Amino acid sequence: MKKALVVGGSRGIGKAIALKLAKSGFDIWLTFHKNEAAAKEVQTEIEALGRSCEIMGFDVSDFEATKSTLSDRCEKEAPDVVIFNSGIIRDNLMVWMTKEEWDAVIDTNLSGFYNVTKAVLFPMLREKQGRIVVISSTAGQIGQAGQVNYSASKAGLIGAVKALAREVGKKNIMVNVVAPGVISTDMTADLPEKEVKKIIPLNRFGVVDDVAATVDFLCSDAQSYIHGQVIGVNGGLAI
Ligand code: NDP
Repeated sequence: MKKALVVGGSRGIGKAIALKLAKSGFDIWLTFHKNEAAAKEVQTEIEALGRSCEIMGFDVSDFEATKSTLSDRCEKEAPDVVIFNSGIIRDNLMVWMTKEEWDAVIDTNLSGFYNVTKAVLFPMLREKQGRIVVISSTAGQIGQAGQVNYSASKAGLIGAVKALAREVGKKNIMVNVVAPGVISTDMTADLPEKEVKKIIPLNRFGVVDDVAATVDFLCSDAQSYIHGQVIGVNGGLAI
């Protein structure tokens, strides 16, 4: 049975991705940070679909914790698919942005990618096959005022994926970015929807299933030649 590691799968977009991949036949390794109860609920939903779901809790910004959890798990078997989805915002205008706000976002969103990939890549290379999908953001493509830290972290992921794609393509590991626009989740719950949707050509927020369907396609046998790409799921916010 194929296995998918979904990092940050307890809520929002990650939860939708985990459920979608489970429906496509993957057994799921689901990670969370603090919200174990939510992760357990997702686990129950996945098991109800007839797939297995292991849950693991760790902070992706903590190199040692990430390494010890994932390296141990990957010792015997590598995941076929890895989704790096965990991410946070600490919004502020640059003039007011604290060092803590900058560091928290870079450490979680960008260094978290290093920490996770470092733990899973060698086992995946050994298998000579796999897919990695990294969740970036429209903010990483075009920038977003009030999100200098977040935009930098998400743009960094795009550069990292393009470089990694050049390294591991010959080993039959396909690596891509999905860049969502504004998607209704806990992260965007406080946005003034009426105002924000005016700048989105489709005139609405996206839903988590829009992103999950795209990730599922990138991980499916339906495609075997998309590599090193950034796929926007943004209602036209970045054209
Ligand atoms: P949520 O805040 O709803 O969920 C975030 C997920 O990441 C949770 O599973 C959370 O775990 C996990 N997580 C957060 N911090 C850490 C950490 N330090 N270590 C491990 N896991 C962590 O976010 P969304 O679903 O909205 O977003 C998912 C991804 O999509 C993020 O990378 C985000 O930047 C990106 N994105 C979202 C957009 C949107 O409009 N919603 C737009 C563009 C990109 P726990 O539940 O335990 O806290």
